[in-house]
Amino acid sequence: MDDIRNAILSDDLAAVADLPVPDSYEGMVVRADEVEMFAGLTTKEKDPRKSLHLQEVPTPELGPGEAIVAVMASAINYNTVWTSIFEPVSTFSFLTRYGRSSDLAKKHDQPYHVVGSDLAGVVLRTGPGVTKWQAGDEVVAHCLSVELEDPQGHDDTMMDPQQRIWGFETNFGGLAQLALVKSNQLMPKPGHLTWEEAAAPGLVNSTAYRQLVSHHGAAMKQGDTVLVWGASGGLGGYATQYALNGGATPICVVSSPEKAEICRAMGAELIIDRSAEAYEFWKDGVQQPSEWKRFGAKIRELTGGDDIDIVFEHPGRDTFGASVFVTRRGGIITTCASTTGYMHEYDNRYLWMPLKRIVGSHFANYRESWEANRLIAKGAIHPTLSKAYPLAETGQATYDVHRNLHQGKVGVLCLAPEEGLGVRDHELRERHLEAINRFRNR
Ligand code: NAP
Repeated sequence: MDDIRNAILSDDLAAVADLPVPDSYEGMVVRADEVEMFAGLTTKEKDPRKSLHLQEVPTPELGPGEAIVAVMASAINYNTVWTSIFEPVSTFSFLTRYGRSSDLAKKHDQPYHVVGSDLAGVVLRTGPGVTKWQAGDEVVAHCLSVELEDPQGHDDTMMDPQQRIWGFETNFGGLAQLALVKSNQLMPKPGHLTWEEAAAPGLVNSTAYRQLVSHHGAAMKQGDTVLVWGASGGLGGYATQYALNGGATPICVVSSPEKAEICRAMGAELIIDRSAEAYEFWKDGVQQPSEWKRFGAKIRELTGGDDIDIVFEHPGRDTFGASVFVTRRGGIITTCASTTGYMHEYDNRYLWMPLKRIVGSHFANYRESWEANRLIAKGAIHPTLSKAYPLAETGQATYDVHRNLHQGKVGVLCLAPEEGLGVRDHELRERHLEAINRFRNR
């Protein structure tokens, strides 16, 4: 592994193709024999530091259409939180099902699950049939793993019944020294970013792009008012930028003055600190419409009377009733998650009479991921990396996200020995340095 790391660090990318792929590598895993370890505990009591282990695993066999990537850096996504606390189900059920689907997929069904759905690194080997990428290419990977053998996926790969999230519903993810991906997950690494900055946008950036900008999501347009929950968080940090970049007005909801400051630094002006306002949308298990109204009045106060065209939803049960209420007549509530609970409750009279729509959204197809990565590469959207941990401390990094102690994205150094490496385009970086560093050390 040292030879590979050294070749990459000395910019001798041509040499990478000649180096042997190691038989095994270190990956961050959860173990099948530990899925019951948190039985009886509440969600918040479950500690990812106990279930995530750095383990030597055999390098999987490279199949047709696949690539093995030397991972320089990765990032924490909430899906690794879910995997590490075995909620709502253990991800081993996904691996077993996938393993049964074909001979090629059998290798994914292991008693360990190498997690992680982001990477920036260098292609080491490509499998038969791969023509667009070669060993030595500097890449990032999006996390849509799709078979595309069924007709349903051919308009939009997210509609494919064999669509999976790499590193969550498949094995050999990005929180490791090596990763196995399908070659149609690969995209060029933005040249002005370090390894850890380039790895950070991936999953959440593509998800926010589809959910808010794409015609498959809310198709946001200039002048829209967009309510962004968790506006400085993983998804929200990109949704806020897309709203600003696309001529819309984000109304950013956050839970502290520090997070409000980050939103201001991104250029947002209308910000609600939900902790300071002490909204109680639920009391003793019952929704409180008077609190939805108080929230709506605050929004109108900030916008000068406008209601919300698009709600960027993901907290779920805690906020969904309020989200439906504050949306304008004909507006859209677009949702990709239910962090606080998936049994949502809202007053349907506020949906059907004013002809509002709820739009479900999930990750993004290759085209959408490519467009989202292109905006990063052009310096139009910026990474939201606040901190990077070494691979061995992935448990702590995941704990921070689980406890909402983080800002933006938390990165992980895999083969990269330190932060700050991998920049190719220094001129573009210099131009955007302030924006790239907005979330740092917060
Ligand atoms: P994150 O970095 O933890 O950000 C979520 C933010 O939501 C938090 O920072 C917090 O911000 C806010 N929040 C948390 N609890 C809240 C509550 N009770 N009321 C209002 N706001 C609350 O996580 P993320 O990466 O953005 O992911 C969020 C969710 O989306 C997760 O459940 C994840 O699994 C899911 N997700 C789904 C997809 C998909 O493709 N379907 C993709 C990415 C993520 P404040 O404390 O500042 O308010």
